[in-house]
Amino acid sequence: MARRFETDAIRAGYDPESTYGALLPPIYQTTTYLQAGPNETKGYSYSRSGNPTVTFLEKRLGALEGAKQPALCFATGMAALTCLGTALLKQGEKVVIGDAVYGGTVRLYNNTFEKFGVQVQYVDTSDLAATKKAITKGTRLVILETPANPTLKVTDIRAVCDVARAQGALVAVDNTFLTAYYQRPLALGADLVVYSTTKYIEGHNATTGGAIVTNDAKLYERIKFDQNALGIILSPFEAWLTLQGLKTLPLRLERHSKNAQAVAEWLERDPRVARVNYPGLKRFAGHAASVKQATGHAGMLSFELKAGFETAKRLMQSVRLVSLAENLGAVESIITHPASMTHASMPADLRAKAGITDGLVRISVGLEHIDDLLADLGQAFDAAHAGANNRRKAVAATA
Ligand SMILES: *Cc1c(COP(=O)(O)O)cnc(C)c1O
Repeated sequence: MARRFETDAIRAGYDPESTYGALLPPIYQTTTYLQAGPNETKGYSYSRSGNPTVTFLEKRLGALEGAKQPALCFATGMAALTCLGTALLKQGEKVVIGDAVYGGTVRLYNNTFEKFGVQVQYVDTSDLAATKKAITKGTRLVILETPANPTLKVTDIRAVCDVARAQGALVAVDNTFLTAYYQRPLALGADLVVYSTTKYIEGHNATTGGAIVTNDAKLYERIKFDQNALGIILSPFEAWLTLQGLKTLPLRLERHSKNAQAVAEWLERDPRVARVNYPGLKRFAGHAASVKQATGHAGMLSFELKAGFETAKRLMQSVRLVSLAENLGAVESIITHPASMTHASMPADLRAKAGITDGLVRISVGLEHIDDLLADLGQAFDAAHAGANNRRKAVAATA
């Protein structure tokens, strides 16, 4: 019987017998490797092309995805998305991208790839008819994210893969929000899975990292070639920290989900909230689609305050426990204003089309005790609606 996810998260990809019995994988902090003769190596020649600690992580991530190849790891999620484009796209070819993806993905494809003559088109991938129209002959690659950031809009992965395959296009799914623990894009027909391991996979706000996983040996080799050519690799220390974080991924995700469900239901009951976006809510538009293809909903949610932008801004400045910052998927709860922070680099018209309104607030619900989280949000809601701004005053007083 294949081992279970929880076991692979702790054991896959590394055998202590290979390293003096060290229970934890060593950090191979070395640039180069001794050669017995010219090009006679033990599998490693130079750490840009490969490093054993990074290999342990790549094997573990591949195993967790149920993939035929190990993962390929990168310095950041954006490095992974860069390599995806350079390896798979040529001048004149078209890439179709979901309209509510990570802001940095839009910035990269709009500026860098368009400069090299790649055609970029955005579409609401949760709208299958619109997606069918966008994926024409000449479309080489489709990049989608589900649930999408920050609206949590859910795309039917299998349906989009069927449409793309009919046109000869590859599909890459950014699975950062759910990870393989909750969602397996390769099993749903995707060709590639992309991660920012910075988020849930490492999970402790300690590293940046990225990964690509595929079943296809040819795609794997092409991406590996560009990874080495571009030099956008993960360092052995970051790989080691990510291996440590991964061990508790299933446990963390279960609690992230439980806490986020409680926060979402709390927000839904508050008359000051116009709408709550969380796939775990029965009333959420993407709930049924999410339940069909994913086994959990993780910790990301967003909501709109009736009182609008200024109150939303005061809310973010009034939290005391929850951190106002730009990351997600880690143990610490984080609150973000997408329009001015994570998605500020996205053109305003694209933002509006994607439903990223000025009053939208995103929370990455962490692993603090739910009572403390709700107490903090409660006092911040009251302060923001009373026109106060608790936190800035407190910071100024101690600075
Ligand atoms: C953060 C993020 C990225 C970019 O990853 P970095 O590690 O910050 O470069 C890409 N996609 C999604 C969904 C993300 O949340």
